[in-house]
Amino acid sequence: MTQVDLLVKGPHFYTMQGDGVGYQGDTAMAVDRGRIVAIAPQEQVMAEYSAPRTLDAAGHAVLPGFIDAHMHTGLCILRGLAQDTNNWMMYGLGPFSAQLNPAAMEAGSQLAILEGLRAGTTTFGDYGSQMDGVCRFIERVGARGRITVTVREAVRRVYNPGELYEFDAGYGRQTLAENHGSTRLPTWTSVLAVHCAAGQGLPGCGRHGGSGLRPGAGQQLPQHHQ
Ligand SMILES: [Zn+2]
Repeated sequence: MTQVDLLVKGPHFYTMQGDGVGYQGDTAMAVDRGRIVAIAPQEQVMAEYSAPRTLDAAGHAVLPGFIDAHMHTGLCILRGLAQDTNNWMMYGLGPFSAQLNPAAMEAGSQLAILEGLRAGTTTFGDYGSQMDGVCRFIERVGARGRITVTVREAVRRVYNPGELYEFDAGYGRQTLAENHGSTRLPTWTSVLAVHCAAGQGLPGCGRHGGSGLRPGAGQQLPQHHQ
């Protein structure tokens, strides 16, 4: 019998392997040193593996970790301000987000990440201007992140409906100069959205982090879309 760290058994497994969602009923999973080593019918796994801990997922479904590709976790601290508000981004969030300091943003990020983990999200695609704290927290809780430091050249203020953004190329240059990628999490700099950069911010965008790689031909930068 092979010794592993953890066994999980349950009536519903969605493995995402093969056709569709890879559903398997009355299944068990063996996990060893953080890696899934077997998913098979319960009798088979229980006969082949033993572990100090067995999780019984009766009444539950087992799924791979979710990936949330579009988050602004820091703004979670402003929850409730945008709902049912006319011109929500400018009139709901705008005046309040302009007053947020880094500590408040970090608190919002931590809340969003903890709630995400509780709901089954294990990879966080987060976009924001100051992401060092987010990277540190994701590392601390053992999750994964795809983090983008957004380059925004549109001046931050409340715009009226239909009013065009005012651009300041210095904003983009400053963001790029400040972010050298000091974390082992994959991080990028990328324009917040095509309508948020006048063009000067684009050439410096790229991947930071361990390798310092920049995207080459055929690679794509994470682009934040509304
Ligand atoms: Zn967004």
